[in-house]
Amino acid sequence: MALDSGNVRRALLRWFDRHRRPMPWRDDPQPYQVWISEVMLQQTQVSTVMPYFERFIARFPTVADLAAADLQAVLEIWQGLGYYTRARNLHQAARVVMDERGGALPRPASEWQTLPGIGPYAGGAIASIAFGEVVPAVDGNVVRVFTRLLGIRKDSTKPAVRRDITREVTKMIAPRRAGDFNQAVMELGALVCKPRNPDCRHCPLSRCCTAHAKELTSRIPYRPPRKPIPHIDVAACVIRRGDRVLIARRRPDQMLGGLWEFPGGKQEPNETIEETAVREIDEEIGIEIRVRGKLGAIPHAFSHFKMTLHVFDCAPVRGRARAVTVDAVKWVTIPDLHAYPFPAADRKIVAWLT
Ligand code: SF4
Repeated sequence: MALDSGNVRRALLRWFDRHRRPMPWRDDPQPYQVWISEVMLQQTQVSTVMPYFERFIARFPTVADLAAADLQAVLEIWQGLGYYTRARNLHQAARVVMDERGGALPRPASEWQTLPGIGPYAGGAIASIAFGEVVPAVDGNVVRVFTRLLGIRKDSTKPAVRRDITREVTKMIAPRRAGDFNQAVMELGALVCKPRNPDCRHCPLSRCCTAHAKELTSRIPYRPPRKPIPHIDVAACVIRRGDRVLIARRRPDQMLGGLWEFPGGKQEPNETIEETAVREIDEEIGIEIRVRGKLGAIPHAFSHFKMTLHVFDCAPVRGRARAVTVDAVKWVTIPDLHAYPFPAADRKIVAWLT
């Protein structure tokens, strides 16, 4: 089904004007705010982002404030939002803006993409929303809406499909309302053209949608079956000395880098999980410990694997704690644990202890 670009554009914008959700970065789109919101919105829903965005802007109101901040302070605000590489890149990008651009934010999408953590999608979204540049912003929502509209039955995870869709969006994008057009497609994908059971009866594009006409909405976008997600068992040690516990900071080059954790690590074949705890602490921190008992188990899912975190109550036996394979170690009192940024699973341990 051939799409009439003008009709689609008008129908979308009319719908957007009526149904757009109010968002703090949307009504008066300032470039810095749009940038922060777009980074936070990657892989994350609007309702989750909202309170984080408010806190982030209150703490770092300008790019200069963000650049001057310590990474730990940024991670602290970010904790719980996940995908922490985004926070590290944001902080690094703010420093690039201050050091190399005299504090001036980029304008065109091509310049935004030179900053750490900004790809074609985020670059297009920021430049179109904040500066009105006529440039597409193709994320998962946009791929879903357009594969359905055009009836594309190919594997939607392939770069070629994304390229075709980017070409279609570029042809269709509203020259005077580029930012609104991009947001309208994303909003339609989030509110109406949802992954399951799209609400075609209330969709402004139903009359020109191939998937709707051919009753293919449950089969488009096509994705190949997912590979099974691996599962690992991990030991985490609450090592107590007097009224303090030992925490370790992950190295910046590691997953969850810069965050603090209860030290431990992954179970190897042919060892019990208690043996894992003892071995990992020796390797990471350079001390011998005794496992006194199990405090509990925390299941947790990341995007590419699942883990069970087995949490042990431990006592130091021999040696002085030092950062062998971690970034830093610290003995802290239980109330002080709240001052450190932890990943989600370790935050549950903090909650048990406090
Ligand atoms: S008609 Fe249905 S499938 Fe087509 S774009 Fe609208 S909501 Fe999505």
